[in-house]
Amino acid sequence: MSECEQDLVIVGGGLVGGSLACALRGMGLRVAVIEAAPPRAPGHPGDDERVIALSWTSERILAGIGLWPRLAPGAEPIHAVEVSQRGGCGALRMDRRDEGVDALGQVVPARLIGEAIQDRLSGVAEVCVRAPARVVDLRVTPQWVEVQVAEGGVSERLRTRLLVAADGGDSSVRRLLGIGLRERPYGQDALIATLTPDRPQPGVAFERFTESGPLALLPMTEGRWSLVWSVPQDRTAGLLALSDEAFLARIQGYFGWRLGRLARTSPRRAFPLVQRLASEATRPRVVLIGNAAHTLHPVAGQGLNLGLRDVAALAEVLVAARRAGDDVGGTAALAAYRDWRRRDQAEVAATTDLLARLFVGGWPPLRAARDLGLLGIELVPGLRHQLARRFMGRAGRQTRLARGLPLETLDG
Ligand SMILES: Cc1cc2nc3c(=O)[nH]c(=O)nc-3n(C[C@H](O)[C@H](O)[C@H](O)COP(=O)(O)OP(=O)(O)OC[C@H]3O[C@@H](n4cnc5c(N)ncnc54)[C@H](O)[C@@H]3O)c2cc1C
Repeated sequence: MSECEQDLVIVGGGLVGGSLACALRGMGLRVAVIEAAPPRAPGHPGDDERVIALSWTSERILAGIGLWPRLAPGAEPIHAVEVSQRGGCGALRMDRRDEGVDALGQVVPARLIGEAIQDRLSGVAEVCVRAPARVVDLRVTPQWVEVQVAEGGVSERLRTRLLVAADGGDSSVRRLLGIGLRERPYGQDALIATLTPDRPQPGVAFERFTESGPLALLPMTEGRWSLVWSVPQDRTAGLLALSDEAFLARIQGYFGWRLGRLARTSPRRAFPLVQRLASEATRPRVVLIGNAAHTLHPVAGQGLNLGLRDVAALAEVLVAARRAGDDVGGTAALAAYRDWRRRDQAEVAATTDLLARLFVGGWPPLRAARDLGLLGIELVPGLRHQLARRFMGRAGRQTRLARGLPLETLDG
């Protein structure tokens, strides 16, 4: 192989693409990661203020790819999730004791995951990270994908057996290949901030459905809670412009007093919400993972969790192909990945979309139905457990990494 020939080129070194590179470290594959943002710079997606609720399965995947020891000190466990509706009587509680686990999930700042990925990849001979660099053109042939990369004013061509698009919701790989996209804007923004209450309940995550949209508060270290509030887009500018005191009073009004008085807030930031689903997950010698394949509403905190399950499945398929002496970009490997992931991706996208639409609006019959829905899940045996398993990422066929088994011991 020449310097410019790779087994894998991963376009996008964000949380999903970077995690895939970590998973493939030491597996005998030559990997190049092309990332548009400079390392540790503002604008890098692993460097914004968003805070991620990781599922039980994601924690295991991150442990299996060597990232968890770095994340654990900054992670806050989720012991229970309380779901309620403002002004309603139905409520739902999922608890780690009912599921027989130490924690249903963990809450970790995205920035910490980004830093852990960058550290884990630095100085690794078989993984070459090129940043800031961009893919500007692609040509797919039966044997290779030729990738034109622009880096520091110089353009270079790489050849790879497999091209992985992990370049986010606005994927340029998807565009360059003309892969179709189903786009559903929600007309909402996710408003995020870090809040400090004066009566913390360690380990409890709250999801509260309000007339304007779902409001989540996730427990963080140091007695802080991360707010993710989906609001109609025409209200965003007004909410961003409020003084801290007025903003806190507004949240207090919607959320109530379960955490006592909400005393402090960080600066706020808004993300526009849109569901984007690629019409194809694979093409000959190309695979789309993470947000490039499926960008979701954050109502159930599933986007990165789903992307990490893509990573675990793809890494397993590729390592098995390599061990068996097969082509890592060949039809068999890609079909195995696509068939494995199809159901989980479709179900999570559909459920998230349903929640995002169902739990918005104050029309009384809809509010009553939501109350009944929450009560029903709480009371019908088995239903709450099913929901908890889904939240924990334990539904469906599990990858080796999710089962706590290392990829190193995988046979071809
Ligand atoms: C407010 C909010 C809260 C969220 N909370 C949760 C949560 O609690 N739990 C959860 O699981 N998920 C959550 N998510 C979703 C989660 O953040 C995303 O699913 C995840 O970050 C997607 O990662 P990604 O690597 O696929 O894409 P991105 O993060 O978009 O990364 C794509 C990368 O590709 C690079 N790139 C783009 N174009 C090019 C190019 N042409 N060449 C080279 N590089 C390129 C970009 O610079 C970037 O680094 C939340 C999302 C939001 C908005």
